[in-house]
Amino acid sequence: VTLGETLPPPVPGPAAPPPWAAGLDIGGTKIEGVVLGPGGEVAAHRRSPTVPGPDGILSGALALLGVLAADTAGRVGDLGSVGVGTAGVVDDREGRILHAVNLGIDGDGLALARGITQATGLPARVENDVNAAAVGVYAALGSPEADVALLSVGTGLAAGLVLGGRLRRGARSSAGEIGHLPVVADGPTCVCGQRGCLEAVASGRALALRWEALGRPPAARPAAAILASAAGGDAAACEVWGDFCAHLATAVRILLLTVDVDVVVLGGGVAGVGEPLLAGVRDALDRQAATSQLLRRLDPASRVVLVPSGASPAAAGAALLGRAGAGR
Ligand SMILES: [Zn+2]
Repeated sequence: VTLGETLPPPVPGPAAPPPWAAGLDIGGTKIEGVVLGPGGEVAAHRRSPTVPGPDGILSGALALLGVLAADTAGRVGDLGSVGVGTAGVVDDREGRILHAVNLGIDGDGLALARGITQATGLPARVENDVNAAAVGVYAALGSPEADVALLSVGTGLAAGLVLGGRLRRGARSSAGEIGHLPVVADGPTCVCGQRGCLEAVASGRALALRWEALGRPPAARPAAAILASAAGGDAAACEVWGDFCAHLATAVRILLLTVDVDVVVLGGGVAGVGEPLLAGVRDALDRQAATSQLLRRLDPASRVVLVPSGASPAAAGAALLGRAGAGR
């Protein structure tokens, strides 16, 4: 090329691959972090203990991003985007944690997205952890046309909905909060102030409370403890577990009869017990369908699966939401 020569128009090259995308899942005991590579694969996965309080949460998130960057992009500023899934009540538009008891955040809340962007220069967004996990599970299932509900059975009970390929938050970010549907007349009082909520009978907390009310010793993992007792022929353990699974089956019926998702994925901490939970919920669904032609037609038991194993679905989902929010 010499001066004065007319240059040909630039030939458009192949589209640039999406950049790295970091995702964090902030829970009461630990922060899980992943970095997704250009193809969506998990390129790095790290965790660190949670330090409660606004300063502890922000500095913990930034420190973990530093470790993840060292594993992948090199510099934090080259991570592309950051998504965060977090426990507690979240304003996803503002990227703020409003209130999270087990993260030590109340009062003024924590403007987490702004704090991350100020420190790293990266676009950041913050999402409810169940919603983030639903997005991660949806991606892991690899069926883009499927509508998916993640039924998260942890300390509490909630569902995350991906419908038509999009996360459904709802007008007040309450879509999927089925844990607070009252299902047992005059049942136990729920943390929300109502009585007989699904969460008050079908959550890790509910399971632990009922077990201890029988005079049994507190267990760090109540579902595993009750299953072990049931396997040893303990009739009370069998009854508690059977009732628990029946209430979860009701949660599944609610999801199928309201949004008719293709698949309900059992996740959350209690799903860590694995196959016995899936078998218990499927048995309960079969019993409930035995007397109902309407339910049998829905074939509910075949539409329940366990969460796929692998890196934290909430961190992976948060990374995808962060990347999408950054317009990539
Ligand atoms: Zn409630």
